[in-house]
Amino acid sequence: MIITRKKEREALLAMLRGVRRAALVGCASCAAACQTGGEKELEETKAFLEDHGIQVLAAVLPEECCHKMLVKRDLKALRGLELDAVVCLACGDGVQTVADNVALPVYPANDTLFLGQVERVGIFHEYCRMCGDCVLGATGGICPVTRCAKGLVNGPCGGQKDGKCEVNPENDCAWILIYRRLERLGKLDSLLIPAGQRHEHAHPAHLNLREGAK
Ligand code: SF4
Ligand code: SF4
Repeated sequence: MIITRKKEREALLAMLRGVRRAALVGCASCAAACQTGGEKELEETKAFLEDHGIQVLAAVLPEECCHKMLVKRDLKALRGLELDAVVCLACGDGVQTVADNVALPVYPANDTLFLGQVERVGIFHEYCRMCGDCVLGATGGICPVTRCAKGLVNGPCGGQKDGKCEVNPENDCAWILIYRRLERLGKLDSLLIPAGQRHEHAHPAHLNLREGAK
């Protein structure tokens, strides 16, 4: 899931300086689960903006705000409205997808943080940086790119203390976790990552399943 956090309300207002009439677009998927872009947040944002002199003429909630066809369909509700801007309560992908579909300024109501695991409602952990060359098969299903503070893929830095990371002692050292897990599984021999052969993808990345993966 893409994890988002609401921007400070003052920051949102600062972006909207000069805007008098706006529409809101949420996301019923990740942003709704993060409590940043579901029905409740659309209502709260509408009330907040109206309290600050910005009229909200419409609010739409696409099933997935990163899905161009769904967004295009739902944004038809904005046709004919005299809008100065659209405020998008989704992730950065959603904001850009909305911007691809309207000839108006589109402002993000959220900051996009990471791709995360949902531990339970409202608790998320970053688990993957989408590096494009997954090493989990060698590391016991624990990602060193993400869960090691230095993103080391070829072994620990040696700075851990009592199993905690030297960069942030609130986190377990990923490499201790990896070693212990592989040891438990009897798979320590898999810990031979050919770091030199890794190829992270260039940005922006694309994938076209209709033409075959590249
Ligand atoms: S190795 Fe790369 S693709 Fe695999 S979990 Fe880590 S960041 Fe994600
Ligand atoms: S202490 Fe462990 S997790 Fe932290 S940076 Fe070093 S190897 Fe990575």
